[in-house]
Amino acid sequence: MKEQNRQTVEKGMLYLCATPIGNLGDISWRCVEILKNVDLIAAEDTRNSIRLLNHFDIHTPMTAYHEFNRYDKADVLVEKLKEGASIACISDAGTPGISDPGEVLVSKCIDAGIPVTSVPGPCAAISALIISGLPARRFRFEGFLPAEKKERKEAVSDLAAETCTLILYEAPHRLKRTLSDLLEALGDRRISVVKELTKTHEKVFRTTLSGAAAFYEKEEPRGEYVLVLEGRDPELEKAEKRASWEEMSIPAHVAFYESQGLSRMDAMKAAAKDRGVTKRDIYSGMLEE
Ligand code: SAM
Repeated sequence: MKEQNRQTVEKGMLYLCATPIGNLGDISWRCVEILKNVDLIAAEDTRNSIRLLNHFDIHTPMTAYHEFNRYDKADVLVEKLKEGASIACISDAGTPGISDPGEVLVSKCIDAGIPVTSVPGPCAAISALIISGLPARRFRFEGFLPAEKKERKEAVSDLAAETCTLILYEAPHRLKRTLSDLLEALGDRRISVVKELTKTHEKVFRTTLSGAAAFYEKEEPRGEYVLVLEGRDPELEKAEKRASWEEMSIPAHVAFYESQGLSRMDAMKAAAKDRGVTKRDIYSGMLEE
């Protein structure tokens, strides 16, 4: 290896290292080097990660950093970093901090003035998005929907108005319920159900929400899933808004904007824009009533 390519680790630095989500070949060369050379690896599940470390002949000591100790353990890790230790944070798979522990540690490090850097790599959300066939220019990552009924309902109805592509994570035992909740709240639209990314049985099911719901009524979901959903059609949104304005009289429409603090002139302009008519039409409408 050429000397200039050797990865040195900096003292007192936190490294957020992305690890494979299935295919071990996806680990980066830099990630292996960093994991070999840091003083300590904070891993979500040390029993899981030992397999990864053994595979790449990494012998760095590990400590558990997971959902249930994420606050207290973060304080311990921050102290070690302050003393000059270099630490890598890894999750079970993929990018730490993305629906995985990491976020709390990062914010505590930032508060303590400790430098944080990333060692980028696999992330199921991004891989699913780019192979979904749905627009990737604007997207919203939602992670897992809440399990609790009320919170879940609120989260789903909040998604309904979003016009960009939506990305969700889901466990196999909750997939059917999620598809049916989404269908009910969002209506039928395109979805790519992406399964077992980078693994032997990787599959992309490009269908509609109703098609996916019907399919998984017959076929038991197995494996890891990412749902990539088409956003709400902006033309539909415009048409619905226009229809709702049209139900209102012109003076009521103008009065609505005035009640929002707009001058009479600006309120007339806004009403004309909503209705797709000229300001003169609005003016005549006001006189007629
Ligand atoms: N931090 C990870 C990342 O960067 O993607 C995500 C961790 S989250 C706890 C686990 C969820 O990610 C799974 O339930 C599944 O929705 C998704 N996931 C992880 N690996 C996957 C894979 N190989 N194929 C499809 N989905 C995957």
